[in-house]
Formats: sequence, structure tokens, C-alpha cells
Amino acid sequence: MKLVRVGKPGTEKPGVELEDGRRVDVSSFGEDYTETFFGTDGPARLKTWLASQPNLPEFDKDARYGAPFARPSKIVCVGLNYKEHAAESGLPVPSQPVLFMKATSSLSGPNDDIVIPKDSTKTDWEVELGVVIGKKASHVSVTDALDYVAGYVLHNDYSEREFQLEMEGQWVKGKSCDTFAPLGPYLVTTDECPDPQNLDIWLEVNGESIQKSHTSDMIFTVAEQISYISRFMTLLPGDVISTGTPPGVGLGFNPPRYLTPGDVVTLGISGLGTSSQTAVSYQPESKE
Ligand code: ZN
Repeated sequence: MKLVRVGKPGTEKPGVELEDGRRVDVSSFGEDYTETFFGTDGPARLKTWLASQPNLPEFDKDARYGAPFARPSKIVCVGLNYKEHAAESGLPVPSQPVLFMKATSSLSGPNDDIVIPKDSTKTDWEVELGVVIGKKASHVSVTDALDYVAGYVLHNDYSEREFQLEMEGQWVKGKSCDTFAPLGPYLVTTDECPDPQNLDIWLEVNGESIQKSHTSDMIFTVAEQISYISRFMTLLPGDVISTGTPPGVGLGFNPPRYLTPGDVVTLGISGLGTSSQTAVSYQPESKE
């Protein structure tokens, strides 16, 4: 099943994208895709309910995709999880997963504009496989870890390299700007994506192939990441783990390449759809 949320920012409605590409409105199910939904076996309940609903309304073809779940309690990211990406970043291959957080306020729709932050000159892309947690996970074993997954989602872990690497302190500053976490188009439940280590993953800038890899190249598998993270914090239903980016980020080019207004970033993962963001300049919010 492919879960979507459709509508204007902040007023999205829950939906399901069907095999034929139609998106049906499941508001009448009575639940948004929240921590409570995922924590109470929501996807399975929704699937059963859906089978008894032949005449659900459809969303307009052009209606905006939001992120496919409500704002989670946290977005935990794993850094340097592909060997060649560690090399292009000038950093050693880690012996344990490198963890950092991304502010949940950076969440945006998969095709929303990417806003180059105020005073930024080094806004960069990172296509990543996102994992959405399905039940509370604390100290889970690697063997059991995938039982805690609700589904998978395409993510672009946008990063401001000056904020991240050249200013003192932690990476969180370079990862958390508004619009830095476009997620979707949909959350694909695990029944339709049984092996997260067998997916093609790619990204283009202005139509040019820039990142092209496969999730089998991860240093730490999805199961290892979930198990590792769950030693240090409880993962709640709906939380997102972003599992690291393959080589080909702007930072790794000589000279480095960063986004300027008008650039279009397009990305995809096999079975998880594609997304596209256009870079725009920061504009202060109008104070009325
Ligand atoms: Zn990343």
C-alpha cells in the first residue's frame, strides 16, 4: 500500500495511491498518519477498511503531495553510510554508525521548492532511503529490527555545508533549515518493499545524473541502523531514520557544486517513486 497526504501545506488529507496512479481520499477512515496511527497497526487496519470502500473520492490529479505522514517525533540520520561518500567528504569510513538529528520543522512535500537558506552559499543534495518506524523500538536486535518498520520513503537530506562543517559544533545546523527534508511522494508499506537493501537509488541536477547507486552498498544495513539507534533512544511509531547518501554530493566535486536559484533536483528509489525540487532564494516571511 502507498500512503499519501494531499493538499495545501498544513491542511493535507490522508490518502492512498492505487496501482493505477489514482489517489483516493481516505479522510472517512477518520485518522491521519500519525504516531497513534502507526502505533496501533494503522496500515493493516486501513488496508482492511479500504477493501470495503469501493467509492472513495479522488484527489485532483494536480493536487499537491505533502509529506506522506504527519510531523514525526524525530528524524534521525545516519551519516557517511556509503564508503565512497565518506571518501568524497574527506572523512574516514566510520566503525560505528554516525548519528545526527534533523529538525522536524524541516519537513516538506516531495515536490515543494527547496529554499536556499538566508546567507547560504553551500546548499547541497543527498538522496536517501528513509525508514518509517511502525512500533516502539528500544534495544531491538538486528535480527528483529525490520519487524519494527512500517514502510519506506524517498528522502532528500538537504545540507548546508558551511553551516554543517565550517561553523563550530554539530551537524544539526546544516541539516535543519526549512524545506530541507522533502519526503515522499508516498510511504510504501513493507509488504510491497520486502528488502530495503535491494533498491536502486539516484539523483539528477538539471537532468544530469549525479548520484547513482544501490542500497546494497550501505556500510550499515537498515536492520543494523535500527538496532544501533535503539540502544541510545526509543524510536517511536512514525519516526524517520534517514539511512545515508551514496557518493555524488556537491561537496565531493572539484570544485564543489552547490545549488543556485532555478536549479532542479530530481531523485528516486526503485519502487518508492520520484520527487523533484526547484531551488529558490530565501524570502523573509511577511509580517502582517
Ligand atoms: Zn544524509
